[in-house]
Amino acid sequence: MEEQAIIDLRSDTVTKPSPEMRRAMAEAEVGDDVYMEDPTVNGLQQRAAEIFGRESALFVPSGSMGNLVCIKSLTHHGNEVICEERGHIFNYEMGSMSAIAGTVPRPIYAEDGILTWEMVKKQIRPKIYYRAQTGLISLESTHNMAGGTVYPPQVIDEICDHAHALGIPVHMDGARIFNAAVYLNSDVRTLTAKCDTVQFCLSKGLGAPIGSLVTGSREFVEKARVYRKLLGGGMRQVGVLAAAGLIALEKGPQRLIQDHRNARRLAEGLAQIPGIKVNVAKVQTNIVILDIAGTGMTSNELSAHLKEHRVLANGVTPDTMRMVTHLDVNAEMIEQALEVVARVVRPKTVGCRA
Ligand SMILES: *Cc1c(COP(=O)(O)O)cnc(C)c1O
Repeated sequence: MEEQAIIDLRSDTVTKPSPEMRRAMAEAEVGDDVYMEDPTVNGLQQRAAEIFGRESALFVPSGSMGNLVCIKSLTHHGNEVICEERGHIFNYEMGSMSAIAGTVPRPIYAEDGILTWEMVKKQIRPKIYYRAQTGLISLESTHNMAGGTVYPPQVIDEICDHAHALGIPVHMDGARIFNAAVYLNSDVRTLTAKCDTVQFCLSKGLGAPIGSLVTGSREFVEKARVYRKLLGGGMRQVGVLAAAGLIALEKGPQRLIQDHRNARRLAEGLAQIPGIKVNVAKVQTNIVILDIAGTGMTSNELSAHLKEHRVLANGVTPDTMRMVTHLDVNAEMIEQALEVVARVVRPKTVGCRA
């Protein structure tokens, strides 16, 4: 039998650049972007600003750097940053909001990762001189570790309106904001209209090999450019990467709906497998979080067994795993992955396996 291709459900960052991207990269017009002379980077930044309805945008090497330059640009040392407890900026960015931006996270747990003004307002620090002040509210849509959940637009708008009335800016960690827009049948411009800054990734579902953009006012982008340089993120003939990014930005969003369908099918299939629990109704976009406690295996063990059958998925906690769909996983591969999971978690009552 022909060996099955690897089905990589670890993340939507694992996609490989398409032949079209590689051609565009090879042929990209370039210049020195620290001098702001790379026409392809300038084109990408301009398109991102247009799509998000902002004055300006800045290309950064990673989403983590994008979030950090936003946090740094919008806050002062000693400020608190309100975020959700499982949020990316709090858990997966090396504590950079503290280590580098000098801010203190003020995490709030929210069911499904979605903060509301009701929750946020209780955590705004009173204006007393000895209290650290709330410098920023950061939202994450889709919310990665809560399972790709989407902020309802009214919830974002309400938080922004109240925060702005208190002089507090709002950042959107929109690594997967295009997935959110597709789910809502809306557009990223409308969804993020009231946020002061937005970070989004080209390198996730949109399919580029690298890169994120931050968008906001011209004044913000001028600051963000300085902080990007401070962090070592000033890049030179980087149009070779922006060329792939432009294709991802123009063509990537259209096909995310397929990833969402695949994730839904994956969740439905997983829910049928004894020992695995998935709340299918909560799978909105391309991320499935599954509870595997009933399999009698830890996520590391299950992960290792799946890998033997060429299916890759990572644990989140010992009892939970995450599976992410993307453009390099098609509907047929989802069915194959489901067969593998079913085989691997089947109760081992028939003696040793061949
Ligand atoms: C992936 C991701 C980022 C950025 O990650 P990088 O690996 O630094 O590009 C930021 N926020 C969220 C929610 C993410 O999923």
